[in-house]
Amino acid sequence: MVKIALVGNPNSGKTTLFNLLTGSSQTVGNWPGVTVEKKSGKVKNHEDVYVDDLPGIYSLSPYTLEEVVARDYLASEKVDVIINIIDATNLERNLYLSTQIFELGIPVVMAFNMIDVVRKNGDIINLEKLSESFGVDIIEISALHAEGIDNVVERALLRAQDGRLPKEPRYSGEMEHIIAHVEDIVASYNDSENINRYLAIKVLENDALVLKKLNLDKRDLDRISRMVDREQSRLDEDMQSIITNERYNYVTKYTSKYLIRMSDTRESLSVRIDNVVTHKYLAIPIFIAIIFSIYFIAISTIGAWATDFTNDVIVAKWIQGGLTALFGAWNVSAWIQGLVIDGIVGGVGSVIGFVPQILVLSFLMAVLEDIGYMARIAFIMDRVFRRFGLSGKSIIPLLISTGCGVPGILATRTIESQRERRITIITTTFIPCSAKIPIIALIGTAVFNGAWWIAPTGYFVGIMAVAVSGIILKKMRPFAGSPAPFVMEMPTYHLPLMENVIKITLQRGLEFVKKAVTVILLASVVLWFLQAFGFQNGQLAMVTQNSESLLADIGNLAAPLFEPLGFGKWQATIATFTGLIAKENLVSTIGVVYDFGNGAGAFGEFTKDYSSLQAFSFLLFNLLCAPCFASIGAIYQEMKSLRWTVFAVSYMTIFAYVIAMVFYQLGTLIAGGGFTYLTAIAIFLVALLGYLFFKKAPRTV
Ligand code: GDP
Ligand code: MG
Repeated sequence: MVKIALVGNPNSGKTTLFNLLTGSSQTVGNWPGVTVEKKSGKVKNHEDVYVDDLPGIYSLSPYTLEEVVARDYLASEKVDVIINIIDATNLERNLYLSTQIFELGIPVVMAFNMIDVVRKNGDIINLEKLSESFGVDIIEISALHAEGIDNVVERALLRAQDGRLPKEPRYSGEMEHIIAHVEDIVASYNDSENINRYLAIKVLENDALVLKKLNLDKRDLDRISRMVDREQSRLDEDMQSIITNERYNYVTKYTSKYLIRMSDTRESLSVRIDNVVTHKYLAIPIFIAIIFSIYFIAISTIGAWATDFTNDVIVAKWIQGGLTALFGAWNVSAWIQGLVIDGIVGGVGSVIGFVPQILVLSFLMAVLEDIGYMARIAFIMDRVFRRFGLSGKSIIPLLISTGCGVPGILATRTIESQRERRITIITTTFIPCSAKIPIIALIGTAVFNGAWWIAPTGYFVGIMAVAVSGIILKKMRPFAGSPAPFVMEMPTYHLPLMENVIKITLQRGLEFVKKAVTVILLASVVLWFLQAFGFQNGQLAMVTQNSESLLADIGNLAAPLFEPLGFGKWQATIATFTGLIAKENLVSTIGVVYDFGNGAGAFGEFTKDYSSLQAFSFLLFNLLCAPCFASIGAIYQEMKSLRWTVFAVSYMTIFAYVIAMVFYQLGTLIAGGGFTYLTAIAIFLVALLGYLFFKKAPRTV
């Protein structure tokens, strides 16, 4: 058996090459970090040859999760040969990693990728000389155009067989002198002599993992640190930077001779585009214009049309209409009809209706991502987001969530930092999605006579909730730590690769349908039963009045919960609960529970039942509380943990409760409503919020 490891910088084309080698199809994104998971496969047309796609890394120092993963893998798995894939348009930066790979004591074959671009740019690389200098085979490939792939495999198998190692990079005389001493020391702690030099350099770099593994005794450590100190004071620099410089010197020694850059058109075009789109003043207006257009297309035009068609024609007319006719002809009992047509088809159908919008939005977003613009958006917004503990990468999920929280939550995948990703998942549905717009509209028109400020207030409340929560959560232990430094590849712009874009779009759509349907189906069935049945004379039977249903009973049971918020009546309580299935349900529920068969005026009835303070508190709570089941399903899918899902949903709900209660109680007080124990609690909650907001962040190591 031969085991090959694919190692290279992010965006060097690893995934593309991996797919070619294995023939399996996977998502090829433009984001660094897509391959954080390890992917393995059998090499096509070769018996017993296997390849692993390692995470993209810039070095083998354990600074990032990816680097740790890659190192652990290379240290512990018995790899027969490494294919070091290089973005040949960025030779110097990519070769930096190679200098470390050459030290691993594992045979290496280098694949110089993007050779199509190199040729187009007119750059000339003297492969023969480079290959001779490094002591490795270098093969020109274009993973994108499937060129040179067989060659790489053939050479890799040859090297796996003869075990020939690359030349180890040599550094300056002083450096070599120190390395030789440390190598001697390390040799007695380690039995595989191939990697003594590698270990010696890692020890000099003060690499915690290697130091721990070697467990040098005090005398040897002292000897090493004396040498390190002397060299550091001689050069007035710390050892890590000294070694980094040595590596770059080694690389440029060859690239200066064997690489001739004629022009760098792709790069310079990118730079020219960036001069405009990341311009100090123009960046944000351009960004807003692009996002606005995308929403206009996805939500208001094509997407809306397709969604209406799905809801009104496919679901309502064809499926529900067809089933009604069919059940009628077959004399199916009323409760089964109700369950299937209103419960299952109605419930699931209302969610499936979002699929076209999600597809169009995902498609346009995937295009923005593939051409390289998303990376710029994150860059532009980074400075703003850093103020409340998030990085620029959180902007994208929040943007998508103005349409629908589900794809918004899925979009957090591009955030590498686990902590920031969790905070973004927890806060992203605070942003009003399109399904919450009817709620805002209801309160705005029915209660506040169409006041213009209600809708912007809805968004403002959402944005404030994200910012305040970001600050509060960052101060909790599991989220502590400063936002990850903004390291993100700015890929050069290129035309979208339709195959990738369509794959990503379909994948997102399919995931949504699969997961959402299971959750929604269950919830719809349960809710339908509760709505349709009630106890009459001690017997469970179908009811004609909602107020007699089990749902009303539950509503009455739960209503006291909302008393401190001002809307503790069973109707508003039920509406809040049905809103969990899909936020639009909230408005239709209000319509139903206040209006039994006597035509219009339901919203008028609602207005009579609640003061404007109470209605606004109801709005606040429902904008901020637990999102709909589809989003909760998406949170679970992305958090991959029940505990975290429960935390996320509880946090949102508690936050919503506190905000609505503080608003209502203090509002009542200001309106001259008198001081009660609830007012006291509200004041205490304000103090608590203030404390959580202003307290010092815990220290992290
Ligand atoms: P990874 O991050 O190393 O896995 O890189 P990917 O395989 O995701 O590739 C990054 C980007 O480079 C994608 O947009 C690819 O389509 C593109 N790409 C990969 N190989 C080539 C190539 O040979 N030529 C060109 N022009 N583009 C390539
Ligand atoms: Mg990849």
